[in-house]
Amino acid sequence: MVKLEQLYEGKAKKVYASDDPDLLIVSYKDDATAFNGKKKGTISGKGIINNRMSNRLMERLEKAGIPTHFVRELSERETLVKRVRIVPLEVIVRNLSAGSFAKRYGVEEGIVFAQPTVEYSYKNDALDDPLICLPHIFALGLASREEMETIRKYALGINAILREFWQGCGVTLVDFKLEFGRLADGTIILADEISPDTCRLWDTATGRKLDKDRFRRDLGGVEEAYAEIMARLEAAKDA
Ligand code: C5P
Repeated sequence: MVKLEQLYEGKAKKVYASDDPDLLIVSYKDDATAFNGKKKGTISGKGIINNRMSNRLMERLEKAGIPTHFVRELSERETLVKRVRIVPLEVIVRNLSAGSFAKRYGVEEGIVFAQPTVEYSYKNDALDDPLICLPHIFALGLASREEMETIRKYALGINAILREFWQGCGVTLVDFKLEFGRLADGTIILADEISPDTCRLWDTATGRKLDKDRFRRDLGGVEEAYAEIMARLEAAKDA
């Protein structure tokens, strides 16, 4: 697989063309940002961990019947993925209150919900990724009704699979963000990454945060937390 020109550089990843027009190469960086790029830093070794973790989790999801963009891990930081047109939505699933949910409704973090919630943000940096409802998604033509039904079904399916997996690692999956894309024929598949950058993961026994909140909130021990969560995943019996 030949790496060709860089097509895009995001906050945490670079995307390159490959010699197959249907496949792209993603390269994970150590750069960390929070609050829509207002806070910047580096988490040493993060790119290696996020690449590995995202790939292991996507393989697991594929086995369970969720279509993903994952094709093959090329190196420590690089992965071959299917080319998609990204649906410009952040799909957020929550099992416990935390982050923007706790802030918006003035509640503490850690309330366990009777049912998981699914919400959407419009991916638009200039607008700070505002929360968006289904009627507005349709009004803006961001996705069709049928696509949103598929996305919601996949998001809840992914939550059930990942929640159980992390539970086996002694980790509580609090919430996470997904992005979906369309293949050339319009098929919706899971894209982007699943990592401590995009999930809240709490040690079930102690409540210790093992995710990017350590960076966002200046809690210290950021690299150690990323290494710890990766070690938990790798120690899982059938990882
Ligand atoms: O900040 P908020 O509580 O809305 O985040 C919910 C979940 O989505 C968290 O796990 C967070 O890491 C993830 N997220 C993300 N990228 C964003 C916003 C949220 O990965 N731009």
